Amino acid sequence: MTKEFNSEQIRAKFPFLSREVNEKPIIYLDSAASSQKPQQVLDKLLSTYSHGYANIHRGLHTLSEEATNAYEEVRFKIARFINASSKDEVIFTSGATMSLNLIANSYGLQNLKSGDEILITVAEHHANIIPWQMLCQKTGAKIVAVPVDNDGCFNTKELKDRVTKNTKIISVPHVSNVLGTIFPVKEISAIAHENNAICVVDGCQGVIHMPVDIQDIDCDFYVFSGHKLYGPSGIGVCWGKAEILADMPPFLGGGDMIDDVEIESATYSQPPSRFEAGTPPIAECIALGAAVDFVTDIGMDKIASHEKSLLLYGHQRLASVRGLSFVGTSPNKSGVISFTLDAAHPHDISTLIDQDGIAIRAGHHCAQPLMKFLNLSSTARASIAVYSEPEDFDALAISLEKVNRIFGA
Ligand code: PLP
Repeated sequence: MTKEFNSEQIRAKFPFLSREVNEKPIIYLDSAASSQKPQQVLDKLLSTYSHGYANIHRGLHTLSEEATNAYEEVRFKIARFINASSKDEVIFTSGATMSLNLIANSYGLQNLKSGDEILITVAEHHANIIPWQMLCQKTGAKIVAVPVDNDGCFNTKELKDRVTKNTKIISVPHVSNVLGTIFPVKEISAIAHENNAICVVDGCQGVIHMPVDIQDIDCDFYVFSGHKLYGPSGIGVCWGKAEILADMPPFLGGGDMIDDVEIESATYSQPPSRFEAGTPPIAECIALGAAVDFVTDIGMDKIASHEKSLLLYGHQRLASVRGLSFVGTSPNKSGVISFTLDAAHPHDISTLIDQDGIAIRAGHHCAQPLMKFLNLSSTARASIAVYSEPEDFDALAISLEKVNRIFGA
């Protein structure tokens, strides 16, 4: 029997919902920046540090073996969660930013040369721009950016028009953290492969909102951060195809990534440990496993359909606010609603509605090229998660009208 999405039961698992901000019940619409944590993730973090903690991989005593097993179990869980064919394709990193830096510094430095091109979109988070810029500075490769439509839609023709024989990497978001646009990553991967390029997917805002099957997408790398997936910060994932990882050199050197070390040379271990130098955030990784259990237990398909109707409601509700313009109205969107108000700057909006206990984000959202492309300096952004409910948007709409009144609109 399939379980229904029970919003009340799910919300009861999040302790943060019992607190007040400015004497109002909190309304947290900033989950795209970082999500709140369910009790089972908090419990796992505490129980690991309390009774199950030791350094992993090298210890021969019980605690170390237990911690190692728990850590490696999460690798297996993540592989199953994104349908990877092997747990050895799952590399733990500190987050999506580190994952993209790993790919640029390892795969990129090994494979790119002067004249090569990296295709990204104008809608990237800086984490999917700066590592490529740094790679270009070192190799002489260049970045080519694909535009989006005025409504934030992505047209693959624009991408195809910019692919050349020099294109070596196509790196795109699964979902834009500003526009909410869901990118056709399966189609983009196919275009990359038809042109002998690899496809990197920044899945930060994708994996948290919908089921992800990386074998179906057939991309070469898929990266995300644990803290947006109801897990702790400091832990994230870089999934890569086994045959590509096998040929990649390490990015960071140190303990745990070697086979044999001499004073002047070393041989490196197989992936994934080749890419996991040093002591990782052990308890955080184990708690990320609890976060994956949490969403898997609800069902990513149920989360996706709950959030889809919520987003639709949010758009309808906010459309009634005077002077509000949406930024990003693709019919195929997820997770976030960005907007501007004629009467007030996004920073003023965010500060004022905080008085009503409402948390949204205002600014460039680490996507300055997109802001420039859209001719905006910033937007306000309401983003949702599994604990969000329609009433959040009712409260936001009322509070935004208050802002209008304060600014005389
Ligand atoms: N990519 C996207 C689309 C994001 O939204 C973010 C964070 O907001 C990142 C990458 C960077 O994630 P982190 O700071 O967790 O590495």
